[in-house]
Amino acid sequence: VQSLIDQIANDVANLVGSGKVADYIPALSCIDPQQFGMAVQTTSGDSFATGQADTRFSIQSISKVLSLTLALQARSDRHRVGKEPSGDPFNSLTQLEYERGIPRNPLINAGAIITADCLVSDHTEAKQALLDLVRQLAGNSIHFDEEVAASERETGARNAALAYLMKSFGNLENEVDQVLDTYFHQCSLAMSCRELANCFCYLANAGKHQDKAIVDIARARRINSLMLTCGTYDRAGEFAFEVGLPAKSGVGGGIVAVVPGELALAVWSPGLGPSGNSVAGTEALKLFAKNSGLSIF
Ligand code: GLN
Repeated sequence: VQSLIDQIANDVANLVGSGKVADYIPALSCIDPQQFGMAVQTTSGDSFATGQADTRFSIQSISKVLSLTLALQARSDRHRVGKEPSGDPFNSLTQLEYERGIPRNPLINAGAIITADCLVSDHTEAKQALLDLVRQLAGNSIHFDEEVAASERETGARNAALAYLMKSFGNLENEVDQVLDTYFHQCSLAMSCRELANCFCYLANAGKHQDKAIVDIARARRINSLMLTCGTYDRAGEFAFEVGLPAKSGVGGGIVAVVPGELALAVWSPGLGPSGNSVAGTEALKLFAKNSGLSIF
């Protein structure tokens, strides 16, 4: 595995820096795009890393899987969010109006805002509850990046529009500001590839982290299938075609992927393609799936 990922780092070097850093969140616009890291964590306890695998970055939408995991520990509100790919950009409003405030799936922004609403309802301290889960999975030093969270709040008009639209359809239980504060903080979590690979290993391990159930096996399977069909937004079809693994991307340039039963891996490079997925990261996952033979297909 080590030589495989070292070779991948070498092979994608010419793509590192291509694409566009997310600049609609000002705090992310100044990240140096010339960075690449990759880490693998196996269910049997081995770990491998290459490049800048210990540099923390903003995990952004990757957090939607973690908040969903926490929400599913307490409830299963199937009528409030769907499970179909949206085919639209992650922050699109159009479909949400046609579909009467029910987001297509929990991995687009609207769906993750519903999940954040569930966390606010279910926990006295929703942000802390999420941080506790992430720390349990990946280490006690993980924190929210308050500067990124504030930057998102300042430029979060579109997310606020999604939240108010859902509120108008009666699909939000709590106040918009409180829900968005939770959502912006979860997106601001700062983690490295190594921490993310560790964190997501429960999804490769039937829902278990060090023999402790984080979610039951049926839910782990469902989260993985949502990642496969919806985790990379309006590129999910092509991503499944090219990579063939459940994965979740974020506009910080990270992508996490799961090989059920085997391992979790994380890649990071800040330059994004048009759908908001890391360009070099996507190529690295494609090479990993191809050269390891571990695509699920
Ligand atoms: N925080 C970002 C947003 O709300 C998350 C988007 C993403 O990573 N795709 O726009």
